Amino acid sequence: MIPFLDLQSINAQYREELIEACTKVIDSGWYVQGSEHQEFEREFAQFCGSKYAVGVANGLDALILILRAYKELGVMDDGDEVIVPSNTYIASILAISQNNLVPVLVEPDSNTYLLNPSNIQEKITSKTKAVMPVHLYGQTCEMERINAIATKYGLKVIEDSAQSHGAYYKEKKSGNLGDASGFSFYPGKNLGALGDGGVVTTNDKELAETIRALGNYGSQKKYENLYKGVNSRLDEIQAAMLRVKLRYLDEEIFKRKEIARYYLQNIKNKNIVLPTVSTDSVWHLFVIRTQKRDELQQYLLENGVHTLIHYPIPPHHQRAYEEFKEKSFPVSEKIHNEVLSLPISGVQSMQDTKKIVKVMNCFE
Ligand SMILES: *Cc1c(COP(=O)(O)O)cnc(C)c1O
Repeated sequence: MIPFLDLQSINAQYREELIEACTKVIDSGWYVQGSEHQEFEREFAQFCGSKYAVGVANGLDALILILRAYKELGVMDDGDEVIVPSNTYIASILAISQNNLVPVLVEPDSNTYLLNPSNIQEKITSKTKAVMPVHLYGQTCEMERINAIATKYGLKVIEDSAQSHGAYYKEKKSGNLGDASGFSFYPGKNLGALGDGGVVTTNDKELAETIRALGNYGSQKKYENLYKGVNSRLDEIQAAMLRVKLRYLDEEIFKRKEIARYYLQNIKNKNIVLPTVSTDSVWHLFVIRTQKRDELQQYLLENGVHTLIHYPIPPHHQRAYEEFKEKSFPVSEKIHNEVLSLPISGVQSMQDTKKIVKVMNCFE
């Protein structure tokens, strides 16, 4: 069976270095908010081209804390609205509602599956304070158009970069394309920790400092609390793991691009719609679309290929979001009914890639 994502093999590539880095932390006697965390923040900010990086406990917290910081800084208030794509992973939307802000869903582009800038303007009200482009599946959104709308209406632009570490838009990278950006280091992401982790990047010093305080009980100075904060920190062991893997991220992206190129050139099946990339993608996921999705998934499984669906249920049909129950998002619904993600990763062999293409092309 060709696995969807072989995390064991991915991390085995760096086994010696990971063990060495982990040992160093164990022996240091310092496990939270130490030098690994500090160095990782510096290295990751540099990787993105942004001024500041603040380590947090996970990707959801990164997004939650960006919005929370804007509230503390008086940019937003309870009940304000944040525009977000209707087909995103639920975490983007949870970050908004957890802050007592209102997620306003907009339909994505039906070809790229990304936030469609043409649909933003009609959703803007006097309560709209931010827009959250999600670089879904690894492809960057049309940031020039999104930023232009944001500037015109005075909105903050918060990137959800959980799937797009290292993806370019023009000459800049994900994490440096808006006012602030949230990253996840969940093990299955292109840059994955060996546990949970996340980071916020921004060029705004005040915002970075506020987020750092909020994630540390609301404290900048020990035992003095500025905010009613939370505990959301990137621990030393995960920071050390990430420092090792960050050195190989460009290589991981390069290999994913090679597989994607091979799929794009060689999958030929009239039932299957291949992904459209108009900016840059780091191919966190290679997502095809077909009206016979469930049959194709079954067929692939019978032929030794494991696939996944990202995502089977649109956010507005989730029981957690009863308030969206009556709304209709036909583009999202079609996407959720038709998408299927093929295996892709830096450890996938050419032999496996070829086999997947062959099975895909035989499906009727
Ligand atoms: C993974 C993911 C998140 C959440 O990250 P966690 O680290 O799992 O909390 C947020 N947004 C998107 C688009 C994601 O894919």
